[in-house]
Amino acid sequence: MTASRKRNANDTPLLRVSTSGIHGLGAFATRDLPAGVLLGLYEGRRYTADQVAARTWDNQLTYLFMLSNGETIDGGKGGNATRHLNHSCDPNCEAVEEYDDAGRLDLRFQTLVPVAAGEELFIDYGLTADDGSPASDYPCRCGAATCRGTMLDTEPREEAQPGLVAR
Ligand SMILES: [Zn+2]
Repeated sequence: MTASRKRNANDTPLLRVSTSGIHGLGAFATRDLPAGVLLGLYEGRRYTADQVAARTWDNQLTYLFMLSNGETIDGGKGGNATRHLNHSCDPNCEAVEEYDDAGRLDLRFQTLVPVAAGEELFIDYGLTADDGSPASDYPCRCGAATCRGTMLDTEPREEAQPGLVAR
């Protein structure tokens, strides 16, 4: 297959990875972007719900993104720059699920509001902790006026949501 036939999933020209204003590395917009622009798909090694349950994970926050169908994507294995978006309780980007033509559930990272070139990009991790760790184990320092003090998703949900998972 030639490169021109299919866009390389690891090519994320709208993202630049650099030192974050909040934590470690972050992702920044390379140009002014309106709301609703696709930044990239969250890529990486995929695991089914059964594979996830059968596997031993090191007990730390990694790049595991759990989809609402129970599949998990490990962005640390073959992922792209989307894994460098940090968490904010007042994010300017969001992760949206969408089935592709082949029936694969994709996770699209896209802008939620207009952002300016050079702005750091954030999503709400909607973090869940498999081991029932308290919210205080995952403190948030995003600095937003609406910061809930933890990266854990504290909202009661009726439906499964995609979100980062700490194991
Ligand atoms: Zn916060």
